[in-house]
Amino acid sequence: MRLKDIHPFLIILAILSGSAFSKEVNIYTSRHYDSDTILYENFTEETGIKVNIISSKSKALLERLRSEGENSPADIFITVDAGNLWKAQEYGLFRKINSKKIDSIVPKNLRGKNNEWTALAKRARVLFYSPKKYSSDDLKDLSYEDLSSSKWEKKLSIRSSNNLYNQSLVASMIAKYGERFTEEWAKGLVNNFARKPQGNDRAQIIAVANDEADLAIANSYYLGLMLSGKKGEKQLSAAKKVKILFPSQNKAGAHINISGAGIIKSSKNYNNAIKFLEFMLSETAQKHLVENTYEYPINKNVKPSDLISQFGLNFKEDVTDVYKYGEFNSAAVKLMDRVGWQ
Ligand code: FE
Repeated sequence: MRLKDIHPFLIILAILSGSAFSKEVNIYTSRHYDSDTILYENFTEETGIKVNIISSKSKALLERLRSEGENSPADIFITVDAGNLWKAQEYGLFRKINSKKIDSIVPKNLRGKNNEWTALAKRARVLFYSPKKYSSDDLKDLSYEDLSSSKWEKKLSIRSSNNLYNQSLVASMIAKYGERFTEEWAKGLVNNFARKPQGNDRAQIIAVANDEADLAIANSYYLGLMLSGKKGEKQLSAAKKVKILFPSQNKAGAHINISGAGIIKSSKNYNNAIKFLEFMLSETAQKHLVENTYEYPINKNVKPSDLISQFGLNFKEDVTDVYKYGEFNSAAVKLMDRVGWQ
């Protein structure tokens, strides 16, 4: 068929639908929740902006963004851990997020130093214990700092040092206490490992449930995920055997990390991207997020999922700037290597 054979009405329709599609936002995300589709549909309904999603592992998306450069169709990069957001920032991938709304919802310590990125949800890296072995009173004054004491010899379970969550925890110690103190602390911590680091965060919680360790260090939301039954019967019954202890309540508070997002430098839909991030921080979206990921909300008007709030809501949070986890990442990695953290 040649162009002159097509009815003019169809040509006009094609042009119109083309311009409708330019009202879009392109998102590269390492979140992979089917349930998020509903969230994006709500956003489109509210704003008329179409959401295009490319979902993959954080590392793969970062590589893709770097190789696409200026030609990247991406407007937003969503990932977990401030360390990853900082990495993207270091690669020069982000442009500043200019939104009074976002500034008013997200505390400064949970954003990039110059608003290169923002948190969308938060998580605490906490301790898990068996109530059969300890009462919450036994442990209530326990801090991260205490975990290097010989009192905990062969009692700790934590994953390997190549895990970014652990690197960020160590980086936060460096930010607070400096390298020398943190190295001594990490040496003691490694001495107290109940076993060679293995498995993911959930595997550490299971080690406590199975009596292979007294204390596990893992992210808060994993217990919610296991209790939800989404990870199967075995993990559900393991999860029921443990409780959360928020460390360092008499000190800096529980270590906080984030999942978050930044706007890509070459974004052709900057205003749509801002609208999308503002939407993700709205009460409706935050409610959806925390009910599916069991993370803690950023928006103060939203409560975490019951599965996770049963362990306490009013714990003290460490307010160290999360961008420091990126700044001190390489020092943390080298330090963990020096102390033999496998
Ligand atoms: Fe995780």
